[in-house]
Amino acid sequence: MEYEIVIGLEVHTELATASKIFCGCTTKFGGEPNTHVCEVCSGMPGVLPVLNKQVVEFAIRTGLATNCSITRYNKFDRKNYFYPDLPKAYQISQLYLPICREGFVQISGKQVRIHEIHMEEDAGKLIHDPYDDVTLVDYNRCGVPLLEIVSEPDLCSAEEAIEYLEKLRAILQYTGVSDCKMQEGSFRADVNLSVRPVGQEELGTRTEMKNMNSFKAIARAIECESKRQIAVIEAGGRIIQETRRWDDNKGKSFAMRTKEDAHDYKYFPEPDLPPISISESDIDRVRAALPELPDAKKARYIKEYGLPEYDTEIITRSVELTRLFEEASARCSSPKDTANWIMTELLRLMSDAGVLPEDLAFDFASLGKVIALVSSGKINRGTGKKVFAKVFAENVDPESYIREHNLALVTDTAAIRAELEQVVAANEKSVAEYRGGKEQAFQYLIGQGMRALRGKAPANVVGELLHEIVGC
Ligand code: ADP
Ligand code: MG
Ligand code: ZN
Repeated sequence: MEYEIVIGLEVHTELATASKIFCGCTTKFGGEPNTHVCEVCSGMPGVLPVLNKQVVEFAIRTGLATNCSITRYNKFDRKNYFYPDLPKAYQISQLYLPICREGFVQISGKQVRIHEIHMEEDAGKLIHDPYDDVTLVDYNRCGVPLLEIVSEPDLCSAEEAIEYLEKLRAILQYTGVSDCKMQEGSFRADVNLSVRPVGQEELGTRTEMKNMNSFKAIARAIECESKRQIAVIEAGGRIIQETRRWDDNKGKSFAMRTKEDAHDYKYFPEPDLPPISISESDIDRVRAALPELPDAKKARYIKEYGLPEYDTEIITRSVELTRLFEEASARCSSPKDTANWIMTELLRLMSDAGVLPEDLAFDFASLGKVIALVSSGKINRGTGKKVFAKVFAENVDPESYIREHNLALVTDTAAIRAELEQVVAANEKSVAEYRGGKEQAFQYLIGQGMRALRGKAPANVVGELLHEIVGC
């Protein structure tokens, strides 16, 4: 039988606020364990949460950027469960009236519907120490604000899921609501997956793989879990609704626990926080301040700069690359050259050094300077690449670097001619051969000339001057 895969994603993203959602503690990643905590976020009795307004603003921004309607009257609910990383034994979240509903994210050829976006607090971290056979707990992450972005089950392959996640991540980064550093857990996804015979309307039973924080692992997990489910069904078995843990090293998922339903959490309205009321003018203000989003930027790059769609696709995937593109091309006035340098030189340097766009640490205008130096003939392309590698690694200033290392091309024709005259005088035999019709001899003379000039003269100038000197 033919099966189709059905995927719905729940994305958790940590917000880029300075302080936590219900207290003044810092949201900074890392730090000595249990130093970014206070009575509120460590769940002491008798304390009261105070909502960080920035979280609401970020939620509205995200909702508008993903075409959601904003719930003007929304509120928090208590989700009760016990786990050692959650000292209060409940999480403040939104169940009944989430702040954003019914939006969509456009990917190629389809709209992925957003069911809802709600605000909640993150939990702490458990650190399992295999040597001492103990588990330690770090509450620094407790109370870091999260948005949970829940999609409808509209995705049907690993490729589509990754495209959706990349688009969503770009939107969150463009709008500045999250740095989305997957390696730090600030962008992670729960993958809900089921399979059904092609043509069947009703959804199959799903499993859920939680807290996945690498695109590669997500793609592998989807491939693997869909095959597993099909094999179970083909063998006459039944899929159990359960949470599974994906082990990327083993390339397998393992059953963890059967899935809990909402009623297992005994949700009730959060009594310590008043409902949130958002006015139409609040929404208008946030909408007016939205930055240019990935699709709009892409369209503008095509229209304004004549870039091929392929180039814009790559550059707009990351807000950092768009900043680099815009600053560098403004500097050298050549958008297409800038796009080429980004897609070839920069991406290669990044992949060799394992650097992510958000970690680029050089002055973006420097790329524009390098490109301008090459196109004006001050340096050749090979030197340009070397200088850019230095910019990338050490943030050198291209102009001073070229000066200090004497890398500029010789543009003084009189000086080049003087060198070449000496070359001609020292190679009478080749000159005679060339005059006798041997073209190769001329190439030899060019080679000798370039060598005398240590490669620092434009090859076409050397050729022209040699012709003049040799006289044919
Ligand atoms: P819960 O809140 O219990 O996790 P939801 O019904 O809210 O469950 O769905 C959570 C996620 O699972 C959503 O992204 C939804 O699209 C997805 N989902 C629900 N049912 C299925 C299914 N049968 N197959 C694949 N994904 C599903
Ligand atoms: Mg879930
Ligand atoms: Zn705190």
